Amino acid sequence: MILTDLLTAADTAELVALRHALHRRPELSSQERETAARIAVELERCRADEILTGLGTHGVAAVYDSGVEGPTVLFRCELDGLPITEISTFAWRSEIEGKGHLCGHDGHMAILCGLARYLDANRPARGRVVLMFQPAEETGAGAADVIADARFEQIRPDFAFALHNLPGLPLGAVGVRPGPFTFASEGLAIRLSGRTSHAAQPEAGLSPAAVMCRLMEALPALPETLGHTPGHSLVTLSHARLGEAAFGISPGEADIFVTVRAIDDELQAELMGRAETLARDLAKAGGLGVDFDRHENFAAGHNDEEAVARIEKAADALGVKRVVVGDPFRWSEDFGRFGSVAKTGLFVLGSGEDHPGLHNPDFDFPDELIPAGVSLFALIARDLCG
Ligand SMILES: [Zn+2]
Ligand SMILES: [Zn+2]
Repeated sequence: MILTDLLTAADTAELVALRHALHRRPELSSQERETAARIAVELERCRADEILTGLGTHGVAAVYDSGVEGPTVLFRCELDGLPITEISTFAWRSEIEGKGHLCGHDGHMAILCGLARYLDANRPARGRVVLMFQPAEETGAGAADVIADARFEQIRPDFAFALHNLPGLPLGAVGVRPGPFTFASEGLAIRLSGRTSHAAQPEAGLSPAAVMCRLMEALPALPETLGHTPGHSLVTLSHARLGEAAFGISPGEADIFVTVRAIDDELQAELMGRAETLARDLAKAGGLGVDFDRHENFAAGHNDEEAVARIEKAADALGVKRVVVGDPFRWSEDFGRFGSVAKTGLFVLGSGEDHPGLHNPDFDFPDELIPAGVSLFALIARDLCG
């Protein structure tokens, strides 16, 4: 089996052009109106049996239905770009100031459009194949929005697959493992409230500085303090602010942002609760008020054994290099949420060892991965749906 069996050179060239067109017009999470419309046009062209639009917010799903009993197999990609200014100078760089497709979701969309072309010419023999273009991956909201949509019942999958390109791995190499694959994660914003005063009379106010400093040390140390298995959880300090940037005021307020991550949802929830308790206790001891806000909750990604076996089978049939993924990744993927409705398989596809990192201002999705991704997904679809 060679990759070009599944996609013609003309198809590949058109998919690269589509990727570049999507790259020029990135839209942020939950705002992917134009991107979704463009995708729907592509899917119409590929004669999907049914196209659902407006799923969750802007989700689009194409259904290829054999009409014969069999599994429903969903392949997922993401619609959203990032609020980061791209610094690359190639012809297809972002036309929108402050927004960029710097996670490669443009490439993932091109791969699913390639899969639509394959399915147009090779309809499933049994069951259904669903191509899901999910909104708002970057904020962790999109998968939940799509699943909560009443129309999701019509396409509820038995299996769900996704890939993410990953810089640092050899170009085109596949990495997957059964069990925990990506961490659960959530942002915690902590606000400490005291009382401002003139900087000449700090004793007249109540500065949160000392409690803030203690928290900034104690929060990242929490997994160790609680005796968690090393490597299974972490608290990362991501932002802190004390009062205003001024010299005449003793501060009355402080903000601390942390990201709380763990290998599974239960451990993540426990760690989150402990972080809040710690902040509450230290604030109380210092006579301060404290408020919390939680943001961007991602479920842990857990790979089903059978789904992983199908991915490995496809990679081996294509002669694709496989890399060992020893430990689960500490980053999070909104795809984890699909684990609540289907047997899930997420794998990483190498973007090249020296490739700029995801979310870096000079990142760009390697176009060579488009035929590779289409071929892997097509073989998985063929394996399950004939
Ligand atoms: Zn991303
Ligand atoms: Zn991404």
